[in-house]
Amino acid sequence: MNLERIKYQTCPYDQEEGILLTDLEEVIPETDDDGNLQYYCPSCSNTFTYCDCDYQDRR
Ligand SMILES: [Zn+2]
Repeated sequence: MNLERIKYQTCPYDQEEGILLTDLEEVIPETDDDGNLQYYCPSCSNTFTYCDCDYQDRR
């Protein structure tokens, strides 16, 4: 998985840049129960999930 490519996503709350949550070594991304990536927005202090449907074909 290329973390650089998915490292940032637009925050759905204020359209600022959210940062991918990972483990301490920034190797394994945090995911929720559905396997969606977790992001943290420093602007509004919200965490949000992002569906990686654009990157993986889930048929
Ligand atoms: Zn935000």
